[in-house]
Amino acid sequence: MHRSWAEPWKIKMVEPITMTTRDERERAIHEAGFNTFLLRARDVYIDLLTDSGTSAMSDRQWSALMLGDESYAGAESFYKLVDAVRDVYGYEELIPTHQGRGAEHLLSQILIKPGDVVPGNMYFTTTRFHQEYAGGVFVDVIVDEAHDPSSDFPFKGNIDLGKLRAVVAEYGADRVPYVSFETNVNMAGGQPASMANLREVYDYCSAHGILVMLDATRALENAYFIQQREAGYGNRSIADILGEITSYSDGATVSSKKDNLVNIGGFLAVRDPEIARRARALLVAFEGLHTYGGMSGRDMEALAEGIREMTATDDHVRARVGQVEYLGRKLIDAGIPVVRPIGGHGVFLNAKEILDHLAQDHFPAQALAAAIYRDSGVRGMERGIVSAGRDPETGENRHPNLELVRLTIPRRVYTQSHMDVTAESVISVYEHRHEIDGLRFTYEPESLRFFQARFEEVAGG
Ligand SMILES: *Cc1c(COP(=O)(O)O)cnc(C)c1O
Repeated sequence: MHRSWAEPWKIKMVEPITMTTRDERERAIHEAGFNTFLLRARDVYIDLLTDSGTSAMSDRQWSALMLGDESYAGAESFYKLVDAVRDVYGYEELIPTHQGRGAEHLLSQILIKPGDVVPGNMYFTTTRFHQEYAGGVFVDVIVDEAHDPSSDFPFKGNIDLGKLRAVVAEYGADRVPYVSFETNVNMAGGQPASMANLREVYDYCSAHGILVMLDATRALENAYFIQQREAGYGNRSIADILGEITSYSDGATVSSKKDNLVNIGGFLAVRDPEIARRARALLVAFEGLHTYGGMSGRDMEALAEGIREMTATDDHVRARVGQVEYLGRKLIDAGIPVVRPIGGHGVFLNAKEILDHLAQDHFPAQALAAAIYRDSGVRGMERGIVSAGRDPETGENRHPNLELVRLTIPRRVYTQSHMDVTAESVISVYEHRHEIDGLRFTYEPESLRFFQARFEEVAGG
């Protein structure tokens, strides 16, 4: 007999959400210039824009806030965070930042010289921005399967060793300060790297004097997929697997707004005290004193608790990814083209295939996200040509293979009923897909344009 599972928590406090009418949503999406980032949250029913900073904290985390030590220097809350990061991630040196991009900024400024090359497994928007801002050139060394939304390869986050070797051969190891290795690659659809690949990349880099810096923002979800899919890991605990992942690195940047179950925060963590010293020198200029960086004492308390909670049992991550898989399976069963396998933090709709009557320059994923909002008040976001931006050399739009709408599931916030409503809306929009028009810019920001760009409809485009 099929046995259902349910969330491993019960609800102690509720937050009402608004149910809007079709007319209200029409007005709202026009006012937002067809950009779901520009909608007001009060006009959104089920908010799947992002899982960043949208987690629900536990009763223990809310209690921890009261213990926040707001001393300017040497706060007890900082030392609790240091202990939690050391115990769970295994890094000795902690540099607290206001969020992940703060850590990326410091790391890039310290390690990258103009003209350096930074290989990475696909790109993340802010990560690549900071690498380029520091004068580096990002080179994608992810396996080809990652760019193919229909490939069922279980480890689409892997680095292609052949591509990495070719970069090192072309530029020389001294122009490659580090490999930027993202766990559970966000832009590929939340796809994991295998432990074998993490180990192999680290061995190769160590032999060539190149550092491996993880973007460990989603390392917990990566650990879950290793447990589920990689031989030899089925009986290992999530905590144990996470510890092994980070053992194959020299440091990590983390946005604590994801795995770590808090609404704000992040950190850079490294092994080398000299790198830490240089990071702290910049930290005081850009973030704050070295024992709080970009966070208040209470932020650090809740974060320390969240880091311990996420690995305390395997139930949390199993339910978190399980809910994503639940939504994904419903859409797959209805024949909706989605990125396979279903990733760790969201379901990615293949807008290129769903809206195959639109040219990529008419922003199919942007248009699809707007159409889903109009249908039901479910808010997703574009991950395609708008997010990819323009090539800094040529000024032309980059044309990524992946043209996706991301429906991202916040942690511990929505129930499976919300997933049912979402699936029904996507299916309904899919049935009327040929009525959806393309878009063109009415305002295009210079950098990270997807956040604030505005569009209008192009009839028949
Ligand atoms: C969210 C995210 C970041 C950036 O973190 P912020 O806290 O939003 O600055 C970096 N890398 C990955 C993989 C992310 O998901």
